[in-house]
Amino acid sequence: MAEETIFSKIISQEIDTPLLYQDELVTAFRDIFPKANSHILIVPNKLIPTANDIEQDDELTIGRMFTVAKKLAKQEGIAEDGYRLIMNCNQHGGQEVYHIHLHLVGGQPLGKMLSI
Ligand code: 5GP
Repeated sequence: MAEETIFSKIISQEIDTPLLYQDELVTAFRDIFPKANSHILIVPNKLIPTANDIEQDDELTIGRMFTVAKKLAKQEGIAEDGYRLIMNCNQHGGQEVYHIHLHLVGGQPLGKMLSI
C-alpha cells in the first residue's frame, strides 16, 4: 500500500487548502510555490504514486484530469494564449510529491520545454 502524501489531506480537506475544482475522481488547487503566473495542480482523488503506477482501470480518471485542466485553463483566462501540462515521474523527472498530479502552468510565455 502506497504511503499517503500531503495531497490526500488536501483532497479530504483535512488541510484547509482552497479547492478550485472537485468531483468524484479528481481535485484541483493552486500550487503553494507557483512557478508561473498561473500554476494549478490537478490530482486524482485515488492515490497513484507515480506515472509508472497508472493502470488501465485508471483511464477514466486520467482522462478526467485533462478535461478538468482544459476547463480550468479557460476559467483562468489562459486557454487562448496557451499553457503547459506537465507530469513529473520519479527522480529524473523531478517528482517531489508521490501522488500523481498534472501541473497546469501558464499566464506568461514559458520558454523552451526543457532546461537541463
Ligand atoms: P512535483 O515536483 O512532485 O511534480 O510537484 C509537486 C508540487 O507540489 C510542487 O510544485 C510544490 O510546490 C507543490 N506542493 C508541495 N506541497 C504542497 C502543499 O502543501 N500545497 C500545495 N498547494 N502545493 C504543494
